[in-house]
Amino acid sequence: MTTSARSAAAPRGEALAEALQEARAAYTRANPESQRQFDAACAHMPGGNTRTVLFHSPFPLRIARGQDCRLWDADGHEYVNFLGDFTAGLFGHTNPAIASAVSAALANGISLSGHNELEARFAARICERFPTIDRVRFTNSGTEANLLALAAATATTGRSKILVFDGAYHGSVIAFTGGSKPTNVPHEWVIGTYNDIDGTKALLDAHRQSLAAVLVEPMLGSGGCVPAEPEFLRLLREHTRESGALLILDEVMTSRLAVGGRQGMLGIEADLTTLGKYLGGGLSFGAFGGRSEIMAAYDPRTPEFLSHAGTFNNNVVTMSAGLAALDEFPPNAADQLTVRGDQLRTELNQLCAQSGAPMVFTGLGSLMTVHFTERTVRCGADVVAGDQELKELFFFDMLSAGIYLARRGMIALSLPIGPSECRELVEAVASFIEHRRRFWA
Ligand code: PLP
Repeated sequence: MTTSARSAAAPRGEALAEALQEARAAYTRANPESQRQFDAACAHMPGGNTRTVLFHSPFPLRIARGQDCRLWDADGHEYVNFLGDFTAGLFGHTNPAIASAVSAALANGISLSGHNELEARFAARICERFPTIDRVRFTNSGTEANLLALAAATATTGRSKILVFDGAYHGSVIAFTGGSKPTNVPHEWVIGTYNDIDGTKALLDAHRQSLAAVLVEPMLGSGGCVPAEPEFLRLLREHTRESGALLILDEVMTSRLAVGGRQGMLGIEADLTTLGKYLGGGLSFGAFGGRSEIMAAYDPRTPEFLSHAGTFNNNVVTMSAGLAALDEFPPNAADQLTVRGDQLRTELNQLCAQSGAPMVFTGLGSLMTVHFTERTVRCGADVVAGDQELKELFFFDMLSAGIYLARRGMIALSLPIGPSECRELVEAVASFIEHRRRFWA
């Protein structure tokens, strides 16, 4: 019996497992050089890896180079990069303005051992772009930005508990995708359910006296591009204002949606906001900022100031690239990208709905994630309930169609992606639906 004759007769689970096995085998055959480099890396790095999110079975691709929105792997395959480095790669791989800002900074010397003019200019531009940020501090990552925002909250309120939400990702040591992680920093976490107004209200009431902060993403980003419902964010704002806890909005991903971030779109004012990813032009970057009286806790001119160290916080390369990034992404560009992303997601969802595929692309603007489920995706549990085998098959089918995206199904559009690349994605998804419909029809 041929493989396809056996698949047609096999029950759906067995046939899907077989299709996945074939997809993994085809991937392995097509990528010998990636596999060789992976095996070599395993000799010196656990799992050949230094960034967990990039790992997937049987081994991840090794990327050799990128140009605009395209990538080439070690075996010479070309892809349209729809991952956009999980939102950090907004400008594509070869933006000339950012490259020349980096060169200009390097021309004046590396590691200057002191303050520079660029950091204050960059800070002024960030404060101008995000109206709830009166004062800002730079870090090297979004993780650090959240850690320092939390430190400001516990220090200024004198309280210890932090309300976060299942499915949220605030950094490598502040992760709640599938509950708290053993690597998380030991804050007194209270974990609520995203978009659950009644349950969250009960938690806010129960911990009213002891909550230092609520830390929340305006959309679960890494956790599946699940937008917060505006009433949910409003509840958090109103309750924290009354109880004296700080509202920290983690806009590391969502700040790209519009000037002022998602909070600006909804008219919700955070006490502190954290930023990262694309705002450093694609280089290591993070920032936290907010109301001047809270940020004053970090003012070294005051006797009891909080220390915020970091050798590379003001490194000239990121400061210079960040200034160029703001020039390259003015307010109208942010709005246009959000519209383009909304249109693409609508088109993809129409395709899924018309074909009867149990697939949905959730998200906002240029940020989206595919889920294989028929339920409405509103929280972390809805994401976990999706069919993970279909998602893996989708991933391998997209790679073989020249579409690079996250193994978990995330897409973050970059500015060089235009209508023809969007068409390539829509056609690849249509072809997946056509070829794989036996798994749900
Ligand atoms: N916050 C959010 C919403 C994120 O998506 C991420 C990274 O994916 C982080 C924080 C952590 O940023 P970094 O990876 O720069 O530490």
